[in-house]
Amino acid sequence: MYRIGIDIDDTICDTNELIVIEADKYDREVLGGIGIKNPDAYDFPTMMGWDINGKGKFFADRLEYIMANAKIKPFAKEVINKLYDEGNEIVFISLRKKKYLSDPYKLSFDWLHKNEVKFHKLFVDTGEKTDECVDNKIDLFIDDLPKNCEDVSSAGISVLLFNSDYNHDENRFNRVNDWNEVYDYIHKGDF
Ligand SMILES: [Mg+2]
Repeated sequence: MYRIGIDIDDTICDTNELIVIEADKYDREVLGGIGIKNPDAYDFPTMMGWDINGKGKFFADRLEYIMANAKIKPFAKEVINKLYDEGNEIVFISLRKKKYLSDPYKLSFDWLHKNEVKFHKLFVDTGEKTDECVDNKIDLFIDDLPKNCEDVSSAGISVLLFNSDYNHDENRFNRVNDWNEVYDYIHKGDF
């Protein structure tokens, strides 16, 4: 039995993909812009040519919708539920903030239920995720952000970087491309 800490956005669901689609619409429909200006940019505000205020306004208006409607990644439900049924403890740890969402806990809880994902605990608006991992004696932490992997790993906890378009350059952590690889990695138990 392992205690597994799991990020939400871009680890179990495709949040960033929907952010880009909605930001493009928002720029055209609300801000009167031309939509995506720099398609090869690394982050969506640069893609849209927005400053910090543009990003803040967009998040205040649309983040709730995006996070409620982000699509679950292939096999995330099947693998997480299998791990749960096998007796592992599933702990979701998300940075989702009260600053932009009226109730990030309820939003995430409802999304997990709607998508039929089983879990034991859910933490939101965490800041650094190290405290939640240490307090819950997490054995393996899975996230798409190198910074989160770095923080948690510095506390001596094993981490797994979930592959995404924007973390290709990162080579300090073991990496998985999809949820079936997560299952195999956990079953090897070599962490
Ligand atoms: Mg994430």
